[in-house]
Amino acid sequence: MKRILLKLSGEALAGPNKRGFDEATCIDVARQIKEVVDSGVQVAIVIGGGNFWRGRTSEHMDRTKADQIGMLATVMNCIYVADMCRQTGLKTKVFTPFVCGSFAEVFSKDAAVEALEQGMVTFFAGGTGHPYFSTDTATALRAIEIKADAILLAKAIDGVYDSDPKINKDAIKYDRITLDEVLDQKLAVIDLTATIMCLENQMPLAVFGLNEDNSIVNTFNGEFHGTYVDA
Ligand code: UDP
Repeated sequence: MKRILLKLSGEALAGPNKRGFDEATCIDVARQIKEVVDSGVQVAIVIGGGNFWRGRTSEHMDRTKADQIGMLATVMNCIYVADMCRQTGLKTKVFTPFVCGSFAEVFSKDAAVEALEQGMVTFFAGGTGHPYFSTDTATALRAIEIKADAILLAKAIDGVYDSDPKINKDAIKYDRITLDEVLDQKLAVIDLTATIMCLENQMPLAVFGLNEDNSIVNTFNGEFHGTYVDA
């Protein structure tokens, strides 16, 4: 794989704290990203916002406003993880779909590809810039735009199961599954809009647990313990 889009769930960055950042987790994520970049892979990153804000669960505020806060939460996450990456010696660039002053650069596909080709870890913060979308949708959209070879989905859970393992202790984990099967069985891998975008554009995924030791690096060295989702 030459170019990948790594999606980190905000929840997974929070580690055991559940909210905000678990510094040790984030330092380790940056170390792993460095190892992958040093092996010659171009890495783009989307980060969720669940460690700060779950806009959609609020019944007491306007959805568009709640989603705007959610998008800003993903900007905070990207600024943080980008700095962790910079501390390891990596070069980084943070793009947003809306103007964030001097904090980030407005996204363009050409500028993003150029940054990737220069070896920069390239962050797509702020989701799609639109409410009623998610960072899953932003992940699918940007991966397709930059022609990534695959999406690496680092979650709080270690792969794709036939049912929720938190609820059903007999849930079975798949080694391999197709996007068609994900859709048919309504499996919660990425949201429906993102699943359909990946299906329509033949974008495969590798789903794994961020809390498993060295799991980002392991995706590249044949020690993968998650689920491959074929396009
Ligand atoms: N969000 C949005 N548009 C996007 C991406 C994200 O409105 O294109 C908002 C939405 O409110 C979402 C929040 O940002 O709840 C954080 O994104 P994430 O995908 O992590 O949502 P989660 O499922 O974790 O709440």
